[in-house]
Amino acid sequence: MGDILDLSHVQLSDRPLVVCDVDDVVLHFAAPFQDFLRQGGHELIPRSFRLTGNIVSTATQVALEHHEVRGLIEAFFDAQENHQFPMDEVVDTLHDLAREADVVFLTAMPPRYRDQRRRLLDRLCLDFPMIASEEPKGPILKTLHGARALPCVFIDDMVHNLQSVCDTVPECLVLHLMPDSPLHLLAPKAADGVPRAEDWPHAAELIRAYFRAYAA
Ligand SMILES: [Mg+2]
Repeated sequence: MGDILDLSHVQLSDRPLVVCDVDDVVLHFAAPFQDFLRQGGHELIPRSFRLTGNIVSTATQVALEHHEVRGLIEAFFDAQENHQFPMDEVVDTLHDLAREADVVFLTAMPPRYRDQRRRLLDRLCLDFPMIASEEPKGPILKTLHGARALPCVFIDDMVHNLQSVCDTVPECLVLHLMPDSPLHLLAPKAADGVPRAEDWPHAAELIRAYFRAYAA
């Protein structure tokens, strides 16, 4: 992990830990990103679960190069406050969970867009600590949670992030939560034993059952 990652702003209490991805878990990404692309004369044609190769010029239908796709994603992150909006019931559900657990956001977004994301989350009353890093998520979670004898939960829409946490913090409950966007319908399935949460109320049920079983 890069040694510049500073976690000092995340102060954990002696309670369970719930770590959530942000894009397409807390804030919609796929749907507003497609609207953003259309406004710029591009479109996403979901042929596989990836962006490069599936974003084309609307005029020519020619696929954009990887660096062009990267530029569009970064432009979207820069302007995210005008585009992204919360997943259904996420705000109330996270505040309910925060009565018995520490909630932390772990977003795989270039850290230079941290201020935009922080403002957007705060505006939505999602004022939980946030870590923005493109480093693998498992080692970050391990650094954060350490060897604490407390329940730990991780929620993400991306199978490679779930796997990173399974590999690095095997005692952690990992949940697969994603929107039913045309892109996500093409997403790879999570590993056996990784529960799929249909929505935030379902995620909260699974998390509370895990807390109860941990305490028993
Ligand atoms: Mg995500």
